[in-house]
Amino acid sequence: MPKPVILSLDDDPSVLNSIERDLRARYGKDYRILPLDRGGVALEYLNAMKQRNEIVALFLVDQRMPKISGTEFLEEAIKLYPQAKRVLLTAYADTQAAIDSINEVGLDYYLMKPWHPPEEKLYPVLDELLDDWKAHVRLPYEGIRVAGTLWSLSSHQVKDFLTRHQIPYQWLDIEKDSEARSLVEHVSSGPAKLPVIFFPDGRVLVQPDLKELADKVGLQTKADLPFYDIVIIGSGPAGLASAVYAGSEGYRCLVVEKAAPGGQAGSSPKIENYLGFPSGISGDDLTRRAVSQVKRFGVEILSAQEAVKVAVKDAYRIVTLADGTELSCHAVLIATGASFHMLKMPGADQLTGAGIYYGAAYTEAMNYKDKDVFVVGGANSAAQGALYLTRFARKVTVLIRGSEPTASKYLVDAMQENENLELMLNTDLVELKGDTTLEQIVVHNTVTDETQTFDANALFVFIGVRPQSDLVADLVKRNENGYIYTGTDLSVDKKPPQSWTFERLPFLLETSTPGIFAAGDVRFGTNHRVASAAGEGSIAFAMMKEYLKSL
Ligand SMILES: Cc1cc2nc3c(=O)[nH]c(=O)nc-3n(C[C@H](O)[C@H](O)[C@H](O)COP(=O)(O)OP(=O)(O)OC[C@H]3O[C@@H](n4cnc5c(N)ncnc54)[C@H](O)[C@@H]3O)c2cc1C
Repeated sequence: MPKPVILSLDDDPSVLNSIERDLRARYGKDYRILPLDRGGVALEYLNAMKQRNEIVALFLVDQRMPKISGTEFLEEAIKLYPQAKRVLLTAYADTQAAIDSINEVGLDYYLMKPWHPPEEKLYPVLDELLDDWKAHVRLPYEGIRVAGTLWSLSSHQVKDFLTRHQIPYQWLDIEKDSEARSLVEHVSSGPAKLPVIFFPDGRVLVQPDLKELADKVGLQTKADLPFYDIVIIGSGPAGLASAVYAGSEGYRCLVVEKAAPGGQAGSSPKIENYLGFPSGISGDDLTRRAVSQVKRFGVEILSAQEAVKVAVKDAYRIVTLADGTELSCHAVLIATGASFHMLKMPGADQLTGAGIYYGAAYTEAMNYKDKDVFVVGGANSAAQGALYLTRFARKVTVLIRGSEPTASKYLVDAMQENENLELMLNTDLVELKGDTTLEQIVVHNTVTDETQTFDANALFVFIGVRPQSDLVADLVKRNENGYIYTGTDLSVDKKPPQSWTFERLPFLLETSTPGIFAAGDVRFGTNHRVASAAGEGSIAFAMMKEYLKSL
């Protein structure tokens, strides 16, 4: 933590020197003494300090300066540092200005020049002010700060990215925090682009894309090797489990992840049915453990890199990333899992990230403390999200299309026992209302035919899981919903698919293209569970190993 600053400002070099000398002698050990001679420069300097999250304890400012008076300077300076103590250095003629500024800028003290001897006239005053400052100051957060609004999609995406990568950050809501607002205004010209991310080293990113952010926070975004035995696309339980085995057996293996490791499982507040964790484990804890295990075995994980195409070139499989990078390997595992359907109804698009969130209860829950929120969906993920939200929200209403929830019994029981949670069965969501943020939702009861409108602060969507398999749409056989066929599901009358040119039948979990495998939620026949995905990922590695031996 850098030392707090005592900033002295005076245009007269001899006065400035003597203030600096006196301040340094008494406070230099605990404070950084910053003497400046021009108000405009000092304000610029303060803005830069604020971006680095340095803190000012006290301003000691001359009233009479050529371009900006001491009071005018303080007026601006305290917008950035409202907690700093304010002392004006005045000549006898400026006494009235000093008295006026007690109200205008909340002046703590005015000191008549000269202040000698400092032991009598300067230090007692400043000691008292600094003691008071220390007793009440809120010390600045030392890590990454994200400034934005609750209602900006890109702010939500950045928060989600950091949360899912378990990178601590402080959220600054510029609608509630005037200091944060002026910080943002200082770095963005024109209409504020959000979010603005302040790093402890003073660097600032304005509305970055996730790859830029990943680079800045030190995540790997570029492959180290020109060639890999295995490239795994997706770092959910299936991808990570496969990577652990591939790494542990010494294969050159790379995992490509477009968002954050953990996949859907990483967004689960508590997984209670995964073997070995009798009291449950949170998705981020499971992910943290799995990622360390994968890395320990030397597997690389690329973050914020989307695979957009997979192609075959002789014995090589080429994975193309969104930034144009081509990764060459012998075998590919598609472990891209599934994602929730985007709502298609009036209001859905423009309010996404502005009160409507897809599966993001974990990231946003604390922003809805004592508010009324809604969850859509009746399966396990929705139930977990809803239960987690009840820890913060005043009331959580779960909208379920069917006549009962489809979630596991232990979750249904927990929802029914929770006093802050209401289940609305036979309920269709029909409309979302709000100009810039979600304000109301309209629902329709399919049994009573009644339509109702509710005030809503947020809506968390957990419906319509859809496999993420478009990147191999032209390459492998899929069913009409996009699930990838593998192994025996490809065979017709126990014969390989038409396009198949090998003598052998496809391996278990191998797709219709040799050397390309699929595991987890993206695969036809999966059962959408963490354990199944992890199990399939492990088996897929064993099958890829067989395939590699055959080359
Ligand atoms: C909120 C929630 C709670 C759940 N709770 C439980 C539970 O308690 N118990 C249980 O057994 N199951 C639970 N599930 C289900 C379980 O999480 C999934 O079945 C499991 O995560 C599937 O794993 P996967 O590896 O196949 O895919 P996913 O977990 O979906 O991971 C796929 C990964 O691939 C990435 N990806 C996708 N496309 C690309 C691309 N083109 N390029 C690069 N990366 C890509 C995604 O970003 C994602 O990280 C829950 C799911 C959710 C959403």
